[in-house]
Amino acid sequence: MLNLLRMIRFTIGETGPVIRSGLLNLAVMLALGALYVVVYFLMLALMRQEATLGGVTAYTLALAGLVAAYYFASIRLNHYSLQAGYDTVAGLRTRLSDHLRRLPLSFFKKNDTAAISGRFLHDMADAEAVFCIYLHEIVTSAIIVVLYGALLCAADARLGLVVVVTALAALPLMLHAVRALGREAPGHIAARALADKTLLEHLRGMSELKAAGMTGARFTPWAEANRRFRAMSLSMETRFGVRGQIFLALLDASFVAMLLAGSWLVADGALSVAVFLFFLLFSGKFYQPLQDFGVFIAEFRYVAASLKRIADVLHERPLPVRPGHTPPRGHAIAFAGVDFAYGDKAVLRDVSFTVPEGTVTALVGESGGGKTTALNLLLRFWDVDRGAITIGGTDIRTFAQEDLYSLFSVVFQDVYLFNDTVMNNIRLARQEASDEEVMQAARKACCHDFIMSLDQGYDTCVGEKGSRLSGGERQRIAIARAILKDAPILLLDEATASIDPENELLIQQGLTNLMRGKTLLVIAHRLSTIRQAHQILVLRDGRIAERGDHAALMAGGGFYSNAWARQQEIRSWNAAGPTP
Ligand code: ADP
Ligand code: MG
Repeated sequence: MLNLLRMIRFTIGETGPVIRSGLLNLAVMLALGALYVVVYFLMLALMRQEATLGGVTAYTLALAGLVAAYYFASIRLNHYSLQAGYDTVAGLRTRLSDHLRRLPLSFFKKNDTAAISGRFLHDMADAEAVFCIYLHEIVTSAIIVVLYGALLCAADARLGLVVVVTALAALPLMLHAVRALGREAPGHIAARALADKTLLEHLRGMSELKAAGMTGARFTPWAEANRRFRAMSLSMETRFGVRGQIFLALLDASFVAMLLAGSWLVADGALSVAVFLFFLLFSGKFYQPLQDFGVFIAEFRYVAASLKRIADVLHERPLPVRPGHTPPRGHAIAFAGVDFAYGDKAVLRDVSFTVPEGTVTALVGESGGGKTTALNLLLRFWDVDRGAITIGGTDIRTFAQEDLYSLFSVVFQDVYLFNDTVMNNIRLARQEASDEEVMQAARKACCHDFIMSLDQGYDTCVGEKGSRLSGGERQRIAIARAILKDAPILLLDEATASIDPENELLIQQGLTNLMRGKTLLVIAHRLSTIRQAHQILVLRDGRIAERGDHAALMAGGGFYSNAWARQQEIRSWNAAGPTP
């Protein structure tokens, strides 16, 4: 329970609004208690036939005033506590998304998209229930139980104790059920997450499933996850349901006990009918919140598993910024003795090279050789296992994240476009850029003409992941982004997807505009594009196998010269056109 409270404290961040709504709650409950005290005295006066017209009028006015105050305050309270709840969760969402942006990419490889988006959808909805309803209801019902229990005991200690003791005796059963629920909740939520994940895969892979002729057949992983989720839900509900029903039965038994004890006392002349009547009317008001307390504690215990999933992500640490930062002198890039492995899969081994400022270095090699990984390490998506990467002589691990990313313009192999307008997709590189600046960048990237030919020009939506554009067009948009950002270091991962010759020419032109005066590290697949590079590095099995400029590597007669010869052969075939 203490852990739970600590976790709430941690996820809330700012506790002020939630505590204020709790206090307000207490005031409202006191007004309600006062109302029943007045009812009690009115009943006593009526039964003893002591009531005068003036007295009854005074009681009635007091009651009317209290009822009005109660409803006014509870409407305010309801509004206030909902606001506190939604504000808290909105704050939590922002905190979580800010936090996610600071986490290393390895986090996103460990946790799939569905697991992360589930935090924002299901788990946040659960958090909303906690902060808007459950916490509020649990506190309220606990206060009422104590308050009304005391009121009943004050009206008559003996009968009051019968009600309170028998009713509270049922509570351990409920708490036991709640603990069991708490144990099952993480499994249930994990089953829900698995169902989400397989459903997402099912939808993403729709064209493959259709092509494989599986339209009629069930997609097995999804069917299995769905079956499992159903089984977990049923088991949890039945186990909890039985205990819950027994709890309710015990509360009814407590009422019966009060009825018996009360009748016996009245028959014995030891209790006034007025007080007994008050118990008959009022004890229900005591059982109801006790029942609510049980139900909401149970609900809360369940969604606490969701809160924990959110808290776990918030506890993930961003890559640490090392102390000892010195301002970089220039923008030369250097890898010094870099080793790197994904888990235990070694990818780079003792890689050392430098890219002098203002020059072009190309990385080439077979697929899987570690080229993209080298780029990712420079971007500090992961940290090197051994050695160091420096920019202008400064270790990249000492840069503040924003400072490091301000140095790079990147064109990735798979360009990601957001489902937004072309204008906004380019502006992503520099949020404050004017429309005119965006268009200028687009002109330099040779994409202005094709954008203008879209039905709504720059305001055209590019569709999910940019699906309305071709691969070559997406590449050019990425180049426009990079031109707009105008960072000193340029990283390019050339698209492997075959791009039509016209697009290729335009991409080359765009790149030439982009490259002027920059320090460039480019991964190239078409060797013809990097013939002029100052330095070419061949990465094979994570090691630099060959290095030098085009002429030197051609003379070396290794991987590069063979690959060059092969690609020239293909080009000459293409140039000759298809054989009949
Ligand atoms: P290249 O860009 O030269 O084709 P990569 O750097 O993408 O090569 O990959 C190098 C090796 O690392 C490959 O064998 C690939 O399977 C593996 N690899 C790449 N990314 C990951 C990852 N996130 N987790 C585990 N292995 C990876
Ligand atoms: Mg690659």
